[in-house]
Amino acid sequence: MQWAHDFMDKLTQTADIQGPLLAKQLTRTVFDRIVTDYHKASRRLLLLDYDGTLTRSTDRPERAAPDEEIKRILSRLGAVKANEVVVISGRGKSFLDEHLGELDITLIGAHGVWMREAGTEWRVIEHISNEWKETIEPILQLHVDRTPGAAVEETEYSLAWHYRRAEPELAAVRLAELKDALLSLTSNLDVSIVDGNKVLEIKNTNVNKGRAATACYAKDQWDFVIAIGDDWTDEDIFTILPSNAYTIRVGADVSSATYYLKSVAEVRELLSAFST
Ligand SMILES: [Mg+2]
Repeated sequence: MQWAHDFMDKLTQTADIQGPLLAKQLTRTVFDRIVTDYHKASRRLLLLDYDGTLTRSTDRPERAAPDEEIKRILSRLGAVKANEVVVISGRGKSFLDEHLGELDITLIGAHGVWMREAGTEWRVIEHISNEWKETIEPILQLHVDRTPGAAVEETEYSLAWHYRRAEPELAAVRLAELKDALLSLTSNLDVSIVDGNKVLEIKNTNVNKGRAATACYAKDQWDFVIAIGDDWTDEDIFTILPSNAYTIRVGADVSSATYYLKSVAEVRELLSAFST
């Protein structure tokens, strides 16, 4: 979480900065209050990230499939009429369909491009233009050519400049140059530049979990809202929800979420407690 460490540095430099702080650990008292509030509510919205939240993150795709335990938890929550269970993931629709498609829950893929409500077909909820890639791609390629070890990666809605394998000092110089070049080029384009861990990502501004979460939230009058996620893409969800929603980050970190849980196991414990 490079951005988080950078943010901590900034926090210590500026005392009056507004913005996310460290989330509080979700104690047993809060745990019990959440479960009580869940049972009291008659319309509930559950926004759940997948990788690193419901299942442990892994570099090995074959291990990313949900196990029986999490399928059972989601299935029980989805079967309750008062619940709107939404798995909102960066993964594409084919992955979500294959592994979670049989469940009676809403699936949102590619950070909010695709949605499938239970019993319906997948549909695009965010129409995306990728014309900006033609402008940006050559700039990234130029910085690959001049930085041994760097690489460009293209996904459906983003371009990324990876520099993990580049020599660090040269990479730092090139990164600064690249950011400068991109800032002037992207001011008229609907894209965001995101500083990741040894990667600079350029993506459509309209593709973010916050927009998809807003659409879910607007669908009904909820008296219980909970959102759980483990990385910066989930911060967009935490920030759009009202303050009476329970927002939970997985892992202690600087976050817009109110609370944090330590692990996937703790997330499962909380979700299981809703069904007892
Ligand atoms: Mg995640």
